Amino acid sequence: MKYGCACHYCVSHCPQELNIPWLLELYNEHCFTEGGFLAPMALSSLSEDKKPSACIGCRSCEAVCPQQIKISEAMSDFVRKMKG
Ligand code: SF4
Repeated sequence: MKYGCACHYCVSHCPQELNIPWLLELYNEHCFTEGGFLAPMALSSLSEDKKPSACIGCRSCEAVCPQQIKISEAMSDFVRKMKG
């Protein structure tokens, strides 16, 4: 699914302090290009505690998302896709 978001409401609600809008943008890019090199390259620059795999699925971000994006599902799918 293609997500477009910009409000950043979720960011202050993430206990893991993930940069959710940026990760969703990378996820979009990765899905759209069916596995290009940009997302792996960008993620490799992040510490482990800021990668999609650091998402604990608490869904507190989803509670404040005006678009009701299923962020926790996007993060776990992103992890799956990155594993190939
Ligand atoms: S579900 Fe994941 S991305 Fe959303 S607030 Fe919880 S840890 Fe952060």
